[in-house]
Formats: sequence, structure tokens, C-alpha cells
Amino acid sequence: MNQTWYHQTLEELPLRTRVQSTDVDVCIIGGGLAGLTTALELSRMGKRVLVLEANAIAWGASGRNGGFVSPGFAQGYDQIERRVGQSHANDLFAMSIEGMAAVKHNIHTLNITDANPVTGIISACRYKAADSLRARQSWLEHSHHYNVDYLNTQAISQHVVSNTYHDALIDNNAFHFNPLAYARGLASEIRKLGGEICEQAPVQEISGSKGQWQITTPTSSVTAAELVVATGGYTGKLVSNLHNSFLPIATYVMLTQPDPELIATAITTSAAIIDDRRAGDYYRVVDNGRRILWGGCITTRTSEPRALATILHKSMTATYPQLGSLQVDYAWSGLMSYARHKMPQIGQLENGIWYCTAFGGHGMNTTAIGGRVIAEGIADHSDRYQRFAPFGLTPTYSLLGRAAVQSTYWGYQIADQWRERV
Ligand SMILES: Cc1cc2nc3c(=O)[nH]c(=O)nc-3n(C[C@H](O)[C@H](O)[C@H](O)COP(=O)(O)OP(=O)(O)OC[C@H]3O[C@@H](n4cnc5c(N)ncnc54)[C@H](O)[C@@H]3O)c2cc1C
Repeated sequence: MNQTWYHQTLEELPLRTRVQSTDVDVCIIGGGLAGLTTALELSRMGKRVLVLEANAIAWGASGRNGGFVSPGFAQGYDQIERRVGQSHANDLFAMSIEGMAAVKHNIHTLNITDANPVTGIISACRYKAADSLRARQSWLEHSHHYNVDYLNTQAISQHVVSNTYHDALIDNNAFHFNPLAYARGLASEIRKLGGEICEQAPVQEISGSKGQWQITTPTSSVTAAELVVATGGYTGKLVSNLHNSFLPIATYVMLTQPDPELIATAITTSAAIIDDRRAGDYYRVVDNGRRILWGGCITTRTSEPRALATILHKSMTATYPQLGSLQVDYAWSGLMSYARHKMPQIGQLENGIWYCTAFGGHGMNTTAIGGRVIAEGIADHSDRYQRFAPFGLTPTYSLLGRAAVQSTYWGYQIADQWRERV
């Protein structure tokens, strides 16, 4: 579960494992995009930061995801609006757009060329949805000055050769990229700004209180005025409130062997594609048109299935039967962190520990805004993190919670099939 195709595309880096700092302004636990973004934003404000990562930079979901960067959250806008009202929901959606823009800005200003961003994400429907897609297009334009284009069946056929899709929206503000390269780019900038990032440094114990936290790894002990926990789907029992309020949900990705001619018989667009199923397929052509990166499935089973490649290959050929002979070169899984409300958990515990987690399957833009608002909160620059307060740390009841999620997912699969029956 350690190596992904992204690792093969990048230079192998030696791990930096020795903690040198003894006393910092802010210690951040977790070196995924939530932790790294928090550290980068704080470093830019002149804070002395230390990131402690149990494995390697972006070892978790951040370095193994599909690489889709688009606005929104794991929870849909309507549900968010129902909970917090229209104006608050619109603020949150605007922040999700800001997160996407922050990623774009970092890639550009830090010159992270290996991240290789490619414009365009197509959200495609497996059933007739022209009216609802046009309504969404108009809502985005009027509420957020955000433009997307509608594609009918014929227009979709300019992008893919498949009978699966009826209607779609294409978002040319959104993009897809190599997330591991992006994370490493952020890490390199944090170090340039004087911050420290230590790998193979699992935090085992936290003691003290706000102003003077003591953080212990197997080989070091550090004092920090502020502490941020950003451990995503790999959150352990270090902070019990956090451990009890998320569910680790696995999802899978595979990469095909190179075969540009065969791939061109199916996918002719450089845009990434995501389908409308509740835990649907997401895929894109990578490696200069030579391979397909295909993701899908969610499960509460956290161990990697042996038949992972077969499961994903089956999904791909259900949409593109012409790709039946295209073999799989790599397959891997990763854990996402989901709260029951499917929104990020961003805030501060009563004892002063900050948390920035639970980004679900929509973490590329939301970790960027999550890290930013936590940094602003720590530096007293804003209280924007409070916008996430209505989505608190609701208990998930562990095993019971997992069973509920798995059966909800099965229910979704049945509902999806019903919706697509014509
Ligand atoms: C297969 C897959 C595909 C996805 N595709 C997309 C996509 O296309 N677009 C999108 O927007 N989102 C996607 N997501 C979701 C996205 O990747 C996540 O929401 C996001 O990366 C979460 O970032 P994070 O920093 O919170 O967590 P992570 O990246 O998981 O980082 C948490 C880190 O904390 C470390 N850690 C845990 N405990 C400790 C400890 N005690 N001490 C020190 N370190 C510790 C872990 O080692 C880990 O590196 C996908 C996720 C997966 C798994």
C-alpha cells in the first residue's frame, strides 16, 4: 500500500527523520495536504512550524488520490444549505472555490512543474439530467460567478466513446494533477521558509496545555505553543474526541499499462471524468495519453483487497468494453476520513488543540482552505474557521457506524441502478 504510480513518476527522496527543533510556535501532526497547507500558511506568516509525519510526506490519502481538484465538499450543497441556511452555505461554497484557487496559485508561484496540472473536469450523468444540470450551471453562474458548460449526448461523444452517459457539465476552472508532486512542492517551500518536516515520526503522546504542549515521538520530544492534528483517515487514539468522530473509508485507484492507440478508441479528451453515481467512477488519461488512471468503489473494509486490480478493471470495461484487453500495471488503495455529516472537521477542542481533518473524497480543494483558515485562526488573523463550527465532532459509533455506512452505500448502488434503468 506504500507505492503508487505517482511515486514512479518522481525522483526517490531520502526520508528526513531526525527532529532538530526542541521548541516551536506550532507543531502539526500529519504530513498530508491538510498538515502541509497549514504549515505553509503559518510559515508565510512568520511562524516557526514543525510537521511530524508517521510515514513519509503525503504517504496517506494526499499522495495516492485521483488528483481531481474542483470546488465543493464531500457533502452536497443542498444538504449543507438545509443545515446552515443559504447565506452560510454560499460562504462555504465560496471558500471551497478559494481552496481550489489556492492550489492553482501554489502550483504556479512555487513552480511545481511535476504536479502537471491539466485543465477540465467533466461531471457526467448516466441518466437523463439536462434540466438539473442546466439548473446547476445557472446557480453556479448567478450565485458564484462561476462558469461551467453543459454538454448534451452528442457533445459528450466529442470526449468519450461510450454509451454510458446522457448529459454532463464540463468545468474548465477545475483541473487534475499529480497530488504527490504537489505535496512535495509544498514541503520544499515550508523548508525553504525555515519550517521543519520530520518523517517516520509517529506522535505517540501529547501532554501539557495550550501555550506549552509536549509532543513525543519514539525518538524525540518537542515543546509547542500551538498544536494542530491533521491525521485524516489514519487518525489513531491520540486524541479521543477525534478518534471517535470519524470513519475511515477506503477507496481504490488503478493505472493501466501504456497503450495510447487503444485508449484513444475510448477516451479522446484531456479532461478528467467523474460520473454522477454516489460512489462512482473517476478517471483520466495520464502519462501523455499513454495510460488511464481509474478510481472507484468505497468500502468500510480498511485492508486492501487482493483482487483490487480486477475490481477496477471490471468497472472500466463496463463503461468502455473496447478496453477489455488493456491490462493493469498498478493498483492501490487509500483511506479517507468521513464525518457523519460528510463535511470537514475544522476547529479547536476545549483544551486548545486545533484539528483539521475529515475531508472525505473531496480533499484537494478543502484541505487547502482548511489549512488556510486554521492558520488564520492560530495567528489571530481571522475567525473564518468558525464557519465550519456547525459541522462539529459528532460521534460515529465505530463498528455500528461502519455497518451503517456500508449499508447506505449498498442502498446508493441500488438507487443508482434504478435511476439509470432507461
Ligand atoms: C484513493 C483516493 C482517491 C481520492 N481522490 C480524490 C480526488 O481525486 N480529489 C479530491 O479532492 N480528493 C480525493 N480523495 C480525498 C483526498 O485525498 C483526502 O481528502 C485528502 O488527501 C486528505 O488529506 P489529509 O491531509 O487530511 O489526510 P492524509 O493525506 O491521509 O494525511 C494524514 C497523515 O497523517 C499521518 N499520521 C496519522 N497518525 C499520525 C501520528 N500519530 N503521528 C504522525 N503522523 C500521523 C499519516 O501517516 C498520513 O500521512 C481521494 C482519497 C483517496 C484515498
